[in-house]
Amino acid sequence: MPDAAPLSPATIVVSAGRPARTQAGPVNPPIVLSSTYVSQGAVPDGELFYARADTETWHPFEETLGALEGSAHPAVLFGSGMAAIAAALSLLPPGGRVVVPRHAYNVTVAHAHDLATRTGAQVTVVDVADTEAVVAAVRGDGPDGDGSPAAMLWVESPTNPMLEVADVPALVEAAHAVGALVAVDNTFATPLGQQPLALGADVVVHSVTKYLAGHSDVVLGAALSDDPALHAALRRYRTLHGAIAGPTEAWLALRGVRTLALRVERSQANAAELARRLAEHPGVAQVRHPSLPDDPGHARAAAQMRGFGSILGVRPHGGVDAADALVAAVRLWVPATSLGGVESSLERRRRFPLETASVPEDLLRLSVGVEDVEDLWRDLDQALRAATGVTG
Ligand SMILES: *Cc1c(COP(=O)(O)O)cnc(C)c1O
Repeated sequence: MPDAAPLSPATIVVSAGRPARTQAGPVNPPIVLSSTYVSQGAVPDGELFYARADTETWHPFEETLGALEGSAHPAVLFGSGMAAIAAALSLLPPGGRVVVPRHAYNVTVAHAHDLATRTGAQVTVVDVADTEAVVAAVRGDGPDGDGSPAAMLWVESPTNPMLEVADVPALVEAAHAVGALVAVDNTFATPLGQQPLALGADVVVHSVTKYLAGHSDVVLGAALSDDPALHAALRRYRTLHGAIAGPTEAWLALRGVRTLALRVERSQANAAELARRLAEHPGVAQVRHPSLPDDPGHARAAAQMRGFGSILGVRPHGGVDAADALVAAVRLWVPATSLGGVESSLERRRRFPLETASVPEDLLRLSVGVEDVEDLWRDLDQALRAATGVTG
């Protein structure tokens, strides 16, 4: 093939990470189950010798995700999203300050606070949608700042579960102006919705468990950086801490990512349609989805994302009891945590003690899947009516 235009992401998910084309060779990479490799003497850089350090079954997924994020390097696969996030947070220098969104994934926020207790790191919590406040916190002239700049800015956009949208380019610019690293959790947007490295971020992390793998059958994570030193540091952290992926899980993630573009296209269309209908439902007090024209994150998401994602925040009339009743009344939607699978699921987030107190008690997080939208709507509508007592 002549050197043509760069491939579209919808093609990359299908074509990247394939074995070399050889007559009678397989079209899919094998799963190699081996903890060690034949090896003696000096080990040249990149040669396999022990499967905690590197193993070939990771590579096709790592290359595919690297290409999707437009990264100069392959992704670094980890045994969970949190393992990847721990690796990214380890880039914070000793005693350094990290600025974290108050509604970032709750375990990320807990991990940052844990670092503060154990290592003397400092944590400043911000509303990531409030650009002025984030910029002030990064510079160190926020309400509790002492004038010294942060060493790292953590960004999640849209946030889990509040769906706030950050002005990523503006935040990256402010952070880089004071020499702070920027890490972006791109789990909700997926690389098809947003490429943080292209927006200037230094590190990107994913819970591969969610959309990338897409079938609620594996727990995996990944971290990426364009910077050779940061990329090497992420790999070194993985080898030293050992939170690695099993070969079978890595293979399943590659299998899942092949349909990412189709799944994201369908689930986003479903989510936008359900958001529109929910906003008019008499049993609903509030809906959040960046696709809604009056959503506070709409303009920003439209400017910096492709699509609006497929997570909805819904508060039914009737408070916590109605929210719990709704979860109990659905038949097709699965009551479960996690998100990004082919199946639609929902949960009340504050049932977890770790969930941030500023997340409303009655907020339901809906992960919209790829089922027929009319079936999803009928089930939600009947559950909303049963839970809130509205008729008509
Ligand atoms: C689930 C999730 C994580 C954690 O990933 P695991 O694979 O569960 O360790 C991190 N960030 C976001 C936004 C998530 O939704």
